[in-house]
Amino acid sequence: MWLDGKFVLDAEAKTSLLSHSLHYGGAVYEGIRFYKTEGGRHAIFRLKDHLKRLQASARTMSMETYTIKALTDATIKAVRQSGLEEGYIRPMVFRGEGLGLMSLGILVHTMVAVLPWNKGPDSITLATTGMVRLHPGSTNVKAKVAGHYVNSYLAAAQAREKGADDALLLDWQGDLAETSVANVFIVRGERIFTPRRDHIFPGITRDTVIAILAANDRKVVERHISLDEALQCDAMFVAGTAAEVLPVARLNDRVFEPGHGVVTLCHNLYQRVIRGGLGKTFPDWLTFVD
Ligand code: PMP
Repeated sequence: MWLDGKFVLDAEAKTSLLSHSLHYGGAVYEGIRFYKTEGGRHAIFRLKDHLKRLQASARTMSMETYTIKALTDATIKAVRQSGLEEGYIRPMVFRGEGLGLMSLGILVHTMVAVLPWNKGPDSITLATTGMVRLHPGSTNVKAKVAGHYVNSYLAAAQAREKGADDALLLDWQGDLAETSVANVFIVRGERIFTPRRDHIFPGITRDTVIAILAANDRKVVERHISLDEALQCDAMFVAGTAAEVLPVARLNDRVFEPGHGVVTLCHNLYQRVIRGGLGKTFPDWLTFVD
C-alpha cells in the first residue's frame, strides 16, 4: 500500500496503538471502485470526486492531506501495482500517536490500499431498527468519518438480528435517511424519489444515478419520504460504491416484486457508466490506469 508518499509492504505499514484516530474515531476515508472497461482498459470510477470528498472530510477533522494531483498519482500507481483487473480502493487520512482529545501537533498520515472485490448478491433485504441516523446537529454528516460508522454498524447488526441483510435508517424526524452504507431510492409507477441531501451522506453513486437518469430524460425528485410511503411503493433500490445499484427485495414484511422496469434501467445504466459505456456524456468520470 501507499503510505505518506512511499509504497510499503502491508506488513510494514504500521501505526501506533496510541493512534489518536483509533481512540477517538477521527480517521476519514473513501471507498472507490475500479473496473475493466468495455474497451479493455482499466479505469477508476469518479476518482476526482472521491478525492475531493476525502479532502473535505479531512478538513472537517482539521487534518491536512496531499493535493488531489498527488493523491490521484498515488492511487493510479497503487492500482497498477495491485495487478488486479477490478477492485476496491481505500484511501484513509488519520492521526498518529497522541492521546488527549484536542491534542495539537499530532502527525497526520495518508494511506491508499487496494483490495480485491468479490461480486455481491443481486438484491438486498432491509429492516428498520431502533437506531436513528446521525443528527446533523451532532456531527458533520456529510463527512466520511470513521466514528460515524458506529451508528451504521449498530444499525446493521440489529437488522441482521431481524434476519435482513442491512438496516434502513430513519432520520430523527422518522423519514427515510439511508442504509448503513448506501443511499436509497423508491419508485412509484414511473416516478423516482430519493431523500433530500440535507441530512444524509451525499453519495457519489446517488449523484451518478440522478445524472444518468437525467441524461435519459428521467427526473429524480428529492424530498422527504416517510416509512409508510416506502412500504407502499412499487420498488426500491439502494445506491452506493460497494452495492452499486441493487434492488431491494424486502423491507420489513413488505416484499417487492423483482424486475421493476425503472430499477432494471438504473441498474443497467449504472453498469454501463462504470465500464465506460457513457463516456461521451460523462467524460470526466473515468480515470484510466493503463
Ligand atoms: N451512505 C452512507 C452512510 C455511506 O457510508 C455510503 C458509502 N460511502 C453511501 C451512503 C454511498 O456513498 P457513495 O455512493 O459515495 O459510495
